[in-house]
Amino acid sequence: MKILVLNSGSSSVKFQVVETDLERMNAHQDLTLAVGLVEKIGLSDSRLVLEIVDRKPYQDYREILEHRTAIEWVLRILADPEHGILESVEEIGAVGHRMVHGGEEFASSVLIDPEVVQKIEACSVLAPLHNPPNLRGYYAAHAALPEVPHVAVFDTAFHQTMPAHAFLYGIPFQLYRKHHLRKYGFHGTSHRFVAFRGCQILGWEREEKKLITIHLGNGCSLAAIDHGRSIDTSMGFTPLEGLIMGTRSGDMDPAIIPWLMAMEELTLHQVNTMMNKHSGLYGVSGVSSDMRELLEARAAGNARADVAFRMFCYRIKKYLAAYAAAMGGVDAVFFTGGIGENSPDVREAALTGLEFMGIVLHRDRNAALIGGEGEISTDESGVRAMVVPTNEERTIARDVVRVLNGIMPTFEPPETIT
Ligand code: ADP
Repeated sequence: MKILVLNSGSSSVKFQVVETDLERMNAHQDLTLAVGLVEKIGLSDSRLVLEIVDRKPYQDYREILEHRTAIEWVLRILADPEHGILESVEEIGAVGHRMVHGGEEFASSVLIDPEVVQKIEACSVLAPLHNPPNLRGYYAAHAALPEVPHVAVFDTAFHQTMPAHAFLYGIPFQLYRKHHLRKYGFHGTSHRFVAFRGCQILGWEREEKKLITIHLGNGCSLAAIDHGRSIDTSMGFTPLEGLIMGTRSGDMDPAIIPWLMAMEELTLHQVNTMMNKHSGLYGVSGVSSDMRELLEARAAGNARADVAFRMFCYRIKKYLAAYAAAMGGVDAVFFTGGIGENSPDVREAALTGLEFMGIVLHRDRNAALIGGEGEISTDESGVRAMVVPTNEERTIARDVVRVLNGIMPTFEPPETIT
């Protein structure tokens, strides 16, 4: 079945066409037929890019003012006899939508109906920048393809299994009750896929193991996955918590915020922008939020690039040990994301020193593994360390198949605290 996967942001729509079904999923033989995006929606020079294997990438420009015309453009080009890959849009059997926030409403992917739409709208208060454009993408795609099923796949859903002692903050409980103010965690589709695929490679049952998945992209997070269930993750109420990221600070003393507002006469908005956009690798190094550029500057002797790199890796190491403690041990750690898949330096710095808990890095294997899938620990290592490239779009497509076949695993949250 050909599934259109959509990731709709405020000014862009990323899309993929994935061919998958139960048989292909079991054989790990899903096919990505096309990848593309429409960017600069709302401007006069919106751009559509379409990449198809073994073909030159196609691009075109026109004025696209809203998501509906963007998605109509995508469908037209996908079915274009010269540039597309479909005979007609009727070949699309279903659509999978990435939704950022499912709040406490959604612990797994669901078929979208009017009630689900209402609930996702209600979650917008928790993700005001993300859920509304995600929904705009859904409305547009539903208008263009009203006959096919549409499925919502949430970034937060996988982490709904966290116990209350992991998801509550140490602030007055009424705030949780009133506003659902708690840790949610993000990157759930990636953590779930990587845990699944890593175990598949090792011939393990995910439900029997203690895993730590480490997603290092522009945003970064870890998840502690105990017997198949996420029991803790480093992003929080928003993606700002946890690891140091490209431009985000990650964990810091919250008292810094009022102090800075007073000392620097900053508004709340300015401090928020500082923590989200001007911090992390970029803010500390003054060089770049991009790990490749940071590594180059570090190699050239830039001391601030070096300390930013060390901070980044040190924080990963602390979380690894913390999550091993949270689970009472760990069987494997899986790296993924642009940095996790491509930077042996980061992986080495993050794992070195963790021999006391059974992780022994194989330096040559690690150095040789760039952009692929495989093991980076020694054969004697008590804890297996691996690189497992993530594929969030494929996971979304697979969830569409699972939902349509009624086999989407649902993990109920372990407890409700009122
Ligand atoms: P996103 O979170 O936006 O999906 P990616 O997963 O593509 O981002 O990760 C982007 C990050 O991966 C950037 O910091 C980039 O520098 C880093 N990266 C990509 N290739 C390499 C490489 N060869 N070495 C080090 N870092 C890399």
